Amino acid sequence: MSAPLAPGETIGIVGGGQLGRMLAMAAARLGYRTAILEPEADCPAAQVANRQIAAAYDDPGALAELARLCAVVTYEFENVPVAAAERLAAAVPVFPPPRALEVAQDRLTEKAAINAMGIGTARFVAVDSDEDLAAGLAAFGGEGVLKTRRLGYDGKGQRVFRRGPEDQVQGVFAAMGSVPLILEALVPFAREISVIAARGRDGKTVAYDPAENVHRDGILHTSTVPAAAAPETLAAAREAAAAILDGLGYVGVVGVEFFVLADGEVLVNEIAPRVHNSGHWTEAACAVSQFEQHIRAIAGLALGDPARHSDCVMENLIGDAVARVPQLLREKDVVVHLYGKAEARPGRKMGHFTRIMPPRG
Ligand code: AMP
Repeated sequence: MSAPLAPGETIGIVGGGQLGRMLAMAAARLGYRTAILEPEADCPAAQVANRQIAAAYDDPGALAELARLCAVVTYEFENVPVAAAERLAAAVPVFPPPRALEVAQDRLTEKAAINAMGIGTARFVAVDSDEDLAAGLAAFGGEGVLKTRRLGYDGKGQRVFRRGPEDQVQGVFAAMGSVPLILEALVPFAREISVIAARGRDGKTVAYDPAENVHRDGILHTSTVPAAAAPETLAAAREAAAAILDGLGYVGVVGVEFFVLADGEVLVNEIAPRVHNSGHWTEAACAVSQFEQHIRAIAGLALGDPARHSDCVMENLIGDAVARVPQLLREKDVVVHLYGKAEARPGRKMGHFTRIMPPRG
């Protein structure tokens, strides 16, 4: 294993959103400089970084410049073109490895890879026509969630089928854009949880306590820790997350989303090869946040203790909800974080806040 990154070295981040911003802030606290590759000017990450290369994520000249400037490169969103990550990796260490991006970018390969590690997911079939959809629905008892295999996030590009005469399959493949799809069996989950876990360059893994997540309109609304699930369920989720990290030869932080069934069994919904919205609570309730943990992992530093000193609820400030900030700032034990976005468009994540409270029991 190579030596840890020395303070003063530059970390490259592909993507300029709020996750990149929070990574850049954590990097700065550990004495590193950051360079952001992001086409949009004045993006949230570049506002707090040392420099921005304003170019497309797959611009060869920009990738070469990023590699030249940086001792290590990471990314803050999972749709970074794999070819761009591989191009970077030929010149500079890239963590998480491009292979993790490749696996996570396609819901079908993602589920197949997770199942191959002995970890459960919803049952699924590939759908490339209305006929595939009809056959899949028949196999899953007439119910299922149809998703685009690639480029879906926050519930976008999804359609739910429930038993009933109104469920027409004719023309659905075309209506979804005639792109490769996946039909998943509808999981009758009791709750949704996620685990933020990290793996260092030395192969050591750590996992934070699982958070219980509530979505609204397909977007994460709140993450509550501890999650209201049995200790064995929470342990199984943490173990699955660690096994996924090992299975992918991963370095950095991953977010793993799970469905919890009524009997406590956990199924992986999806993995995000990056820091994750459902881990924002760690900045308020843990000594080492997911952002610092990621920087530590990719820089080859010791991983931090993921222990939690407080119970907490993180809530996203979406669109106009950002107007709550002046009031939230008056409240005790509330940590507010804004992303530097000028315009509060509907559905846009403007910031979040975490309310901490003494741990129960
Ligand atoms: P995803 O984009 O895959 O994370 O899905 C967004 C949300 O849709 C999830 O957080 C669940 O609430 C719901 N969902 C997705 N897939 C399924 C499934 N197979 N069964 C039941 N609900 C699902």
